[in-house]
Amino acid sequence: MARNFRQELIGVFGYPVDENPTVVIQDAAFEAKGLFWHYLTLLVKPEDLGDAMQSVRALNLQGINLTIPHKVACMQYLDEIDKSAKLIGAVNTVKNVDGKLVGYNTDGQGFTWALREENVPLSGATIALLGAGGAARSIAVETALAGAKKMYIINRNEQRGQTLTDLINEGTDCEAIYRKWEGTVQIPADADVLVNATSVGLYPDTNMPNIDMECITGELVVCDGVHNPPQTAFLLEAARLGAKKTISGQGMLVYQGAIGFEIWTGETAPVDVMMNALTEAFKE
Ligand code: NDP
Repeated sequence: MARNFRQELIGVFGYPVDENPTVVIQDAAFEAKGLFWHYLTLLVKPEDLGDAMQSVRALNLQGINLTIPHKVACMQYLDEIDKSAKLIGAVNTVKNVDGKLVGYNTDGQGFTWALREENVPLSGATIALLGAGGAARSIAVETALAGAKKMYIINRNEQRGQTLTDLINEGTDCEAIYRKWEGTVQIPADADVLVNATSVGLYPDTNMPNIDMECITGELVVCDGVHNPPQTAFLLEAARLGAKKTISGQGMLVYQGAIGFEIWTGETAPVDVMMNALTEAFKE
């Protein structure tokens, strides 16, 4: 009987990429589903991205994740881009369909999945979003598409903040309002969900976003996009101040990976296995 010694390969292109824990999540999922697949963590410099994207076809990779700084630049090498990824303007997941590269963005969908798991309704919700970079764009688009009715976009850089605000107002039914972030920012009292989508608090940074923490009430769900550390200083302080609920960026990370797993393999992702693998990895 012929035996197959060739693994199907997926990977991530990033620069830097050494601290990206996705390999742990995806390899645990492949093993749990009995798939002879493997995930590669690959250091790809910006000037080599074109060659690297071509290698997805040449090496017959099943797909690839893109992380910093490739999420926008990779789009020029794709044959097709999913509707919400087009709206977000960035791609983090690519599937190789017989040599045709199809792009998706699963970050924001990972975030909305994490909220669903915590029974936080987005339909009709008012969101206060800190940041207007890549993560914020995907969270803004997907929460708007999931039915959020109003969104405050709070960002230091005015142009980035206004561009995202215009995108939400023009591309979705959600009403977006830009607030410039100067000094200690006030969170509007009608917000139901506050999301830190800035890089503040990402390891080794131990700071908190500069907001008036008096705004944290028992009515407010507080979320962090930062997944390392799993419980940021911001979330711990929000919990201490009595936030309705706090939600870590680890859920977003696992669920965006679960969506990628399903896109690549066509199988249901073993989400609990993926979550446990990530938790274990951060214990070490
Ligand atoms: P970008 O570089 O694209 O955007 C960074 C954002 O953070 C900008 O809006 C920037 O504001 C803001 N920012 C940075 N420093 C400060 C500060 N001191 N005060 C206020 N705002 C600040 O990064 P990404 O959007 O790609 O990533 C943001 C975070 O999201 C990272 O921590 C990343 O790890 C996390 N992330 C998590 C994912 C997950 O699955 N959990 C997935 C993807 C990202 P300005 O425009 O004014 O410069």
